[in-house]
Formats: sequence, C-alpha cells, structure tokens
Amino acid sequence: MLIIGPNNSELVIETIVLDLNGTLAVYGNVSIETKSRILKLKSMGYRIVLISGDIRGNAAMVAKDLNIELFLGADSQEKAKQMQQFDKEKTAAIGNARIDIGTFDNAAISIATLQAEGIHSGIINHVDIIVPSINDALHLFIDVKSLEASLRI
Ligand SMILES: [Mg+2]
Repeated sequence: MLIIGPNNSELVIETIVLDLNGTLAVYGNVSIETKSRILKLKSMGYRIVLISGDIRGNAAMVAKDLNIELFLGADSQEKAKQMQQFDKEKTAAIGNARIDIGTFDNAAISIATLQAEGIHSGIINHVDIIVPSINDALHLFIDVKSLEASLRI
C-alpha cells in the first residue's frame, strides 16, 4: 500500500509486523474487531507477521487462528534479527514493550499501542506514532490518509 510519508516521500508498506501480548492480544485475548481488521488487511494484500516472545505460550495458536506467520523472538535482539528477513523500507512494526524496540528500529513506520497492558516508557523514542488500541493501529493501514496525516510534518 502506497503511503505518502514526511516531505512527500513515498512509502510502500507490504509487511506489518505485530507483537502479540499487550499489542495484538490484551490479557491474552484477540478481539473479534481485531480479527476482522487482520482479515481486511490480508485481503488488501498486506503480509501480516507475528514476532512474539510468547510469554503466554499461545502464539502458535493465535497465529494459526488468524492464518498469519509466526516467528519467535525471546528478546529485543532476537526480534531485531527476525526483522532482517523483511525489507525494512516496506515494513511497519506495531508493539508495546521494550522487547519491541528490535522491531521498531528495523521498520519504516513504528507504532505503539497504549492499551490495558501499557507501554514501557523506554520505547517512546523508538516509535513514530502512539495509538490507543491495536484496532486503531491496524486501521491506519486500511485508511492510509489517517496514517499520512499522522506522519506529516
Ligand atoms: Mg508486548
């Protein structure tokens, strides 16, 4: 999906990398609204990828349920390493915690979701946008004008 970034630069986002706990799922649950947005994004041609530390041991189940790819990363360094398989310029990352700095720093656009599980204050300088929910984060890639508006200088 073509997105007009800062200074009229053109960003083409093909892959959206998600964190699981505190991001895609809140208290271990992925909402129906979130599932429908994932489906919509897939139908639009986005590649949706989960990179998780899998603290609850349910990442494989969630990935299977949503039919999205899963890669494990036990810490920020491992998440950064997993990001190397994607084209940084065409990848967005969504997360909430310090472990996600590894994805934020290796993405063209990075978004934090400030939901019930919170965000770590250490991530603030590693993200472009902070939104109140995963549904809002995903919606930015459906309604890209809103994403462009938030990125604009
Ligand atoms: Mg998390």
